[in-house]
Amino acid sequence: MHELSMAESILNAVIESSEKNHANKVIEVIVEIGKMAMLNSEQVIFMLEVLSEDTIVNGAKFIVEEIPIEIECSECGFDGKIENADLDPYTPSSRCPKCGNFKVLVKNGKDVIVKNIVIDK
Ligand SMILES: [Zn+2]
Repeated sequence: MHELSMAESILNAVIESSEKNHANKVIEVIVEIGKMAMLNSEQVIFMLEVLSEDTIVNGAKFIVEEIPIEIECSECGFDGKIENADLDPYTPSSRCPKCGNFKVLVKNGKDVIVKNIVIDK
């Protein structure tokens, strides 16, 4: 399951970084999820809560910020955000909302990033 493996890697990154900073406890985790990553934020949060039991992250508050997809079109020069509706759920590639071209540069919205971790030492 996509969300599960993503939650695992997010949690591992959080644990690794918290241990490096000698945390006693993790209070809050902010994760940025690009809309192109095709993840259900609520499911990711739920799985993070389940997986973090028995770890230093147990009880932390998980906050997900969804990052819109931003593209640049090499054909018509469109540069901006596109809505989820422009995405084909089976092939997470995007196309230009203006001219329909698939040769677009995705500038934002692809990645899943642990943006901030609040720890208690
Ligand atoms: Zn275009």
